Amino acid sequence: MIDPWSSESLNHKIIEKFGVRPFKEVIGEIKDPHWLMRRGVIFGQRDYNKILKAMKNKEDFAIVTGMMPSGKMHIGHKMIIDQLIWYEKKGAEIFIPIADMEAYSTRNKSFEESKKIAIEEYLANYLALGLDITKDSINVYLQSENLVVEDLAYILSKKVNFSELRAIYGFDESTSIAQTYIPIIQAADILHPQLDEFGGPKPVLVPVGPDQDPHIRLSRDLASRFKKEYSFILPSSTYHKFMSGITGGKMSSSKPNDAIFLTDPPKVVENKIMQAKTGGRETLEDQRKYGGSPKDCVVYEILIYHVEDDKKVKDIYEKCKNGEIICGECKKIVAEHMKKLIIDIGKKREKMVEKAARVLEESNGT
Ligand code: SF4
Repeated sequence: MIDPWSSESLNHKIIEKFGVRPFKEVIGEIKDPHWLMRRGVIFGQRDYNKILKAMKNKEDFAIVTGMMPSGKMHIGHKMIIDQLIWYEKKGAEIFIPIADMEAYSTRNKSFEESKKIAIEEYLANYLALGLDITKDSINVYLQSENLVVEDLAYILSKKVNFSELRAIYGFDESTSIAQTYIPIIQAADILHPQLDEFGGPKPVLVPVGPDQDPHIRLSRDLASRFKKEYSFILPSSTYHKFMSGITGGKMSSSKPNDAIFLTDPPKVVENKIMQAKTGGRETLEDQRKYGGSPKDCVVYEILIYHVEDDKKVKDIYEKCKNGEIICGECKKIVAEHMKKLIIDIGKKREKMVEKAARVLEESNGT
């Protein structure tokens, strides 16, 4: 079983053991790669050539990326929306399943609660971040209300048995039937854009963290097992590094002091950044003399993920390495940038809740 972003070694593990290829092998084929691609945040891929070909030839392709409505949205989640905006401009049809069935079976969230969180905490933020989910090319749905996905999951489940799920996910006798069904629902989320009612077989990309790779492998296996019935094309995937939390572990909604939430007041954002782990030297003198280590610095990582302008990022990198900037100054610059971003998102989000609710009402039961 894969433990997410515990270290670089996890990223190497999926590359070495599970047939994921380095993203740098394909980046040269992309005219204007996303900054997360350029900076190595997106580090791996499987079958990305199918997506490259579709983008190049302006053929149909789709992106599927689910959302678990169980906590607050933090800045680490934002990178998925940034990617979706980029792919939408490249002509992708986008599918956003809201995993309320998973939240029910694994996190004890009621369906009503999940829906409310999805609208207020996630979809309103997606809109505020610039992803126009009202477009026809973007399909947002609750798993529990999407009969096409549920029917497909039932059909797919015919060719999966418990031993296989146990081997992949570590399920045992105490695992509920509802929980064992979740990977099949997710496979249906990933494969359903290729059904006739959605235009038939096409390349589908799923951007994930390395911990999600078991779902990708199962979906690809199922696509093969049902090739005769549906002519499925095996889904492609990309792998991104998870953003670190303030103290250096993986950023997670379950560690509120360690995560920067999109709903945090600006002062809280500033305080969190001022407390962040850095790659600075022990003394000011050493910092000036030897420079800092941006690659070990959470503050620098925030720039990598959230500042689009390469020049600004490079400037901090050089100044840090050369000892021309100290961590206190640097944190202030990054805190100012993030405060502006959070204030802007907050202003927009207020107006978006109603719109988000409407999108969900109109798009379900597809
Ligand atoms: Fe990090 Fe900035 Fe300090 Fe360098 S100067 S270690 S980038 S906080």
